[in-house]
Amino acid sequence: MNAQDTAREVRKQYARYDERARSWLSAYTGRGGRVYCASGCFRCCDMPIRLSWPEALTIAQSMSEDQHRDMHAHARKVWANAHCAKNLDEYVRGHRSQVGFCPLLDRATGSCSQYADRPTRCRDTYSGLPAQLCAPGGVEGLKGQARRDYQREVRTNPAMDGHSHYLAPLEDLSLPAWDRFGAMMRRELGFELWGDFAFLVCMTREEDFVKALQERDPGKVIRALRKAGLYHPEIVQIE
Ligand code: SF4
Ligand code: SF4
Repeated sequence: MNAQDTAREVRKQYARYDERARSWLSAYTGRGGRVYCASGCFRCCDMPIRLSWPEALTIAQSMSEDQHRDMHAHARKVWANAHCAKNLDEYVRGHRSQVGFCPLLDRATGSCSQYADRPTRCRDTYSGLPAQLCAPGGVEGLKGQARRDYQREVRTNPAMDGHSHYLAPLEDLSLPAWDRFGAMMRRELGFELWGDFAFLVCMTREEDFVKALQERDPGKVIRALRKAGLYHPEIVQIE
């Protein structure tokens, strides 16, 4: 996959998503709907993020050497957490408590240092309730009436999916971008490669891995990862 061409296409998809999201948000807030995401709000930046190989190639090109170094350290923590976790819930909890915030987050300002190239998952996460509910334990810690109010809100607000306070239509709006990235991978690699944000960004710099991808053989890619002790189904998925 040519990195520059890939980045051009990925950024085109990001721009299209941003336009669709802007238009949806304008209609939603025009009807009185509230969105709590704001500049400097970052409580969600410790969640695990899944992204596609084209998105990893894109953001990797914009990152500084220091950011790549920090991402490697972060990926090692992701790896350790994946090996300790017994199930997906534990994996997510451990990611938030042990792995911690994304290394691209500027903690001083609460802003994303790679905002323009942040992955789709970061773009399509919008909260319809206050940010403290996005923090680890924010929802689980609600008791009594507060819990019942939360459950009623996520059930009755048509922009929520009945289970969580994130705005579901904004997630759905990213489907065309996911589809496009899937098609790009099938065309260029012969299969789809998805995985953890930090892990895939680091793998863009692993020459043997990139070479194995170019051979368009998914079995070989998995074998290369296994040989390097770097295969874990929670962290990398080949479809
Ligand atoms: S999803 Fe939650 S934590 Fe993230 S920016 Fe929005 S309100 Fe803040
Ligand atoms: S890429 Fe940016 S928006 Fe996404 S988790 Fe990292 S700091 Fe947050």
